[in-house]
Amino acid sequence: MFNIENYLENINCPSCSKDSYKILNNSNYKNIDSLEKLKEVYKSSSDNILIDQLVQCNYCSFKYLNPRIISKIIIDSYQDTIDETHVSQDKFRLQTFSKSLNKIIKILKLQNLNQKHFLDIGSASGIFLKALKNSGFKEEGYEPSKWMVNYGKEKYEININQGFIDNINENRKFDLISFWDVLEHVTDLDKTLKKVDTISKEDAYLIINVPDSDSLACKLMGKKWPFYLNVHLYYFDKKSLENLLKKYNFKLIKSFPHWQYLSLGYVLMRGSKYIGFLKYFEKVFKFLNLSNISFPYNMGQTTFIFEKSE
Ligand SMILES: [Zn+2]
Repeated sequence: MFNIENYLENINCPSCSKDSYKILNNSNYKNIDSLEKLKEVYKSSSDNILIDQLVQCNYCSFKYLNPRIISKIIIDSYQDTIDETHVSQDKFRLQTFSKSLNKIIKILKLQNLNQKHFLDIGSASGIFLKALKNSGFKEEGYEPSKWMVNYGKEKYEININQGFIDNINENRKFDLISFWDVLEHVTDLDKTLKKVDTISKEDAYLIINVPDSDSLACKLMGKKWPFYLNVHLYYFDKKSLENLLKKYNFKLIKSFPHWQYLSLGYVLMRGSKYIGFLKYFEKVFKFLNLSNISFPYNMGQTTFIFEKSE
């Protein structure tokens, strides 16, 4: 007999380690009746709405899933991810990342890019690495999904490796490290950020892009906010990120909204999961052959730039 309790783990607050919280949203596992079904809804690209219990720490206000699905299931699922739909949007993601990167270069007044070692964690097919390479950086990326890594290597000829931040030698030192829509998926936040501290140079920058739970979009949409997903283990905002990163010697120097370009058809396809009538528009635009036009959208995704400060 399948029992979901066997696949759940209780955790202390990932930010302050205390174990006292209030429940913001109750769990609902009624449709999970087998291990196969459980694995299915834990794919990294999953669009599955939140079914786990969402809590908020009584001490530091950090929002996280607790109890949550055991890490092994989540990690295995990321390694096995095959996602044609995701890579179908690579053209638009390159447009997004090139713009973001130019903005970051400007803000930080970066020079001599060809001498900068830029590490990207959770690279998917490596589109951000491609943008880095195009700008002249020495790019290096790690991605759990074997399929995504092979795809990126063959298609974009970038320095991408199958694995996690744990696989990087402790003596390496990077000038810049980025997490694009990744930190909210990482099972061991403390271990990950300790490693970031270890492998970053003294004047390093850390780029973190996450859905901001303090954004207007989140406030307006409430429980319908599209980033409330079972694969998102933490719900960050400016305050909680600042508070968290302080422990690892990083201070916030800038944040700005992240405008993501995707094809109109893709946005409507994803959106129709939440707003039924968008399905109608999806068909109309397909008919008019407009599905492939580039469409910028922001639902609260925010880019945070941190600077190392010991
Ligand atoms: Zn806490």
